[in-house]
Amino acid sequence: MRSIDDLLAQLDHDRVRSMTQELISIPSVNPFGQEPGVGLREQEVGLRYAELLTEVGCEVLVDEVSAGRPNVIGVLKGSRPGPTLLLTGHLDTVDVTDYDDPFTARIEDGRLYGRGSCDMKAALAAFVEVARVINEHDADFAGELMIAGIADEEDRMIGSVHWSEHGPVPDFAVVGEPTSLKVCPAHKGQYGAKFRTFGTAVHSSIRSEGVNAIEKMADLIAGFADYNDELDSRPAHPLCGNATFSIGTINGGEVMSTVPNFCEIEADRRMVPGETVDQVLAEYNDRLHAVAAADSEFRYELDGPTMSSAVLDTPLDHPIVTTVADETETVLGTPAIIEAFTGATDAPNFHCPAVIMGPGSIAQAHTLDEFVPLSELEAATKIYLRVALSLLS
Ligand SMILES: [Zn+2]
Repeated sequence: MRSIDDLLAQLDHDRVRSMTQELISIPSVNPFGQEPGVGLREQEVGLRYAELLTEVGCEVLVDEVSAGRPNVIGVLKGSRPGPTLLLTGHLDTVDVTDYDDPFTARIEDGRLYGRGSCDMKAALAAFVEVARVINEHDADFAGELMIAGIADEEDRMIGSVHWSEHGPVPDFAVVGEPTSLKVCPAHKGQYGAKFRTFGTAVHSSIRSEGVNAIEKMADLIAGFADYNDELDSRPAHPLCGNATFSIGTINGGEVMSTVPNFCEIEADRRMVPGETVDQVLAEYNDRLHAVAAADSEFRYELDGPTMSSAVLDTPLDHPIVTTVADETETVLGTPAIIEAFTGATDAPNFHCPAVIMGPGSIAQAHTLDEFVPLSELEAATKIYLRVALSLLS
């Protein structure tokens, strides 16, 4: 049986680099509601990812979630029964408007640039290399190493939502989103909703005969003015802090000279572990009812979710957290930094204890100058291999 150091020495970091470059060169921009087509879907990169996983010995399933939008799942089976570790990332990227040459992955000053470099084709490439070393160098392991490329993380998460409904359920998961190699066992959830107010349209010269929906919306917004203070006054989650409420859009009215009969806002509620959607809706309805109680002309509608993603709250003493933290410390030579991930991810949809840990920084994801530091990519590849060998021992 090969030692861990022996196997680590087999990692081919040049291969990880060129695989990352190749995956970047296959556009997989999320369609964000447009009709999916070549370049604007995960199919092309997903099929290549399936080939890469097959080449390193995985049994591969391409699970088409919707037309041209696959989840790609590869499995390496160990020599004896044991747990299933999922290493996973999303296949899609954000858009490339105004991005200069987004799909030519160039290496400069120790960084690999291109759309999807840190978010998150580098991690996808690292996972393939972990499977290659384990398979080609006869690493003895128990259970299953499962590697998955997931569709549509950047928009509606149809890939991981599909997974949450159909399985499989792994025992633990590492999601390789860019964390600068910090270990993130928790993140907030998100609940989007629209609030609408209704009025009566009349010519603005006889405004008193109408009901102004924009003014009603102003009353509603005022009714939410102290909501963030209330959220801040609640006990903070140790990693995620406090919940937040933010109004992101407002629309209403048609022309200046007409009293508007309609106004709509969309609000983003970030939920902390322990909160439920029902609780958020109850808070929304309390505030709506308070405004309505003071104004018999207040007519409204609450519509949601327009966006919904779950919280992640993996216990800090769970082996997936302690193992990823320990192996990160071993590879980096400094104690792992454990904190919440700033955004929402696919992680809760796998229904297993999970951590987010990957190369590159969320600060570069979604920018017009996306990159992953090669040193972090190398370190992440080593960490993923060590985690797999440790948890599947
Ligand atoms: Zn991402």
